[in-house]
Amino acid sequence: MNTLNQIHLSEIKIGILGGGQLGKMLITAASRWGMNTFVLDPSEDCSASSVCNTFIKGDFKNYDDVYSFGKLVDVLTIEIENVNTDALIQLAKEGKQIYPEPGKLQIIKDKGLQKSFYDKYDFPSPHYTLYTDKISIIKAIEGGIQKLPFVQKLCRAGYDGKGVSVIKRNEDLIHLLDGESIVEELIDIQKEISVIVARNKLGEIMTYQPVEMVFNPIANLVEYLISPAPIAPEIAKDACDLAIAVISAFDITGILAVEMFLDKNNKIYINEVAPRPHNSGHQTIEAAHTSQYEQQLRAILGLPLGSTKLISSSIMLNLLGEQGFSGLPVYDGLQECLKIEGANIHLYGKNETRPFRKMGHVTIIDNDIINLESKAKIIQQTLKIRA
Ligand code: ADP
Repeated sequence: MNTLNQIHLSEIKIGILGGGQLGKMLITAASRWGMNTFVLDPSEDCSASSVCNTFIKGDFKNYDDVYSFGKLVDVLTIEIENVNTDALIQLAKEGKQIYPEPGKLQIIKDKGLQKSFYDKYDFPSPHYTLYTDKISIIKAIEGGIQKLPFVQKLCRAGYDGKGVSVIKRNEDLIHLLDGESIVEELIDIQKEISVIVARNKLGEIMTYQPVEMVFNPIANLVEYLISPAPIAPEIAKDACDLAIAVISAFDITGILAVEMFLDKNNKIYINEVAPRPHNSGHQTIEAAHTSQYEQQLRAILGLPLGSTKLISSSIMLNLLGEQGFSGLPVYDGLQECLKIEGANIHLYGKNETRPFRKMGHVTIIDNDIINLESKAKIIQQTLKIRA
C-alpha cells in the first residue's frame, strides 16, 4: 500500500468478517471514500450484502473460508468477534494487515482471558472465579466456596446477554449454564455506560463522551441509549481515562467499545470490551462530527482521527422485533415517525423479524432533553416491527 500522503483510498480493498448491521454501516462510511469493500458472511441476505462491492458466501468461523477471504483483500477487519482467529494469525504471519490484531482478538473473545487481562493491569472489574463446567460451580457452592448472588458468563460465544445467567437465589441454580465460564460478583448497578475510544496506527487516541445504555429487562439487550450520559463531569472524565488506559494496555489499533458499570457508590468497573464499532456508538453517525464507523476506517488506515465532539445530544432507540412475531417484517407506524423532526431512522434490511431481533435503530437528535425524551417515547410507542 502507498504511504500516508499518497494514499488512494479507492484502491484499497477492505474486507469485513461478518455482514450484519455494523458491517453495513462500516461499508456506508467506506463508500463515502469510494473504497472497495468485501464481506464474508454465511447468509446472502445479510444486511451488508446489498451495499458491499463484493460479497463472499462463507463461514467466518471456518479456517479455510477466512483464510481465502483474507487473501482477496488488503486490510481485514471484523464486525463480530466470533471469527476464526487461527486463520487470522496465519494471514498476519504472511503480512496481511488485520485490525484488531488477531492476538488481541483471541484475548477479548474469551471472557476468562479478558478478565485475567484486567487483573494483570489492575483495571477495576467485578471479582470473578473461572470454572470449567456447571458441576464445578455446584460443588463450589455446596462446599461454601462460592457464594450467591453472582453472574455466570460463558467464556466464549456469548452476545446480547445470551450466555449470561444471573443467579440470585438457590431456585435460580436451574439456570446455570454448562461449559467453561466465569462467575462474577453481582454489582449493584446505578447505570451502565459505554465509552468508545479509537487509536490509530500513529498512536493517536480519542474518546467519544460516555453514553448511558438502558437495557430491556426481558431481552437483556440495549433498548435505548442517551448521549451524552447524564453523569457528573468528573465521572465522565474518569470513564474516558479508563477507556484510554484500556486501549493502550491492549495496544489495539481501531475502535474499542468499553462497556462499564457505575455502581451505587459511583465506582466504575469494566464489564467487557468489543474491538469494533458497537451498538453504543450508532448515534455518532448523526450526533458527532465523526461517526464511529469513519473513525474505525481512519484508525486502521493510518489516517488522522476525526473530531469526536458531539453536534447534538441524542437518544438512540434500538428497533427490536415485537414479541410473538416471526417472518417478513412490517414496519407499523413508520409513516408517522418519518414526520418527526430530528428522528433518523435506520432499517437494516433483514428479511426476517424475530422477537427482540435488532431490525434497525432510530437516532433522535435534539439539544432540548425534554423534547428528546418525548420524541423517543412517541417513537417507542408508535413504531412496531411485526410480521
Ligand atoms: P454480553 O456479552 O452478552 O453483552 P454482558 O457481560 O454484557 O453480556 O452481560 C449482560 C448484562 O448482564 C449486562 O449488561 C448487565 O446488565 C448484566 N450483568 C453482567 N455482569 C454483571 C455483574 N457482574 N453484575 C451485575 N449485572 C451484570
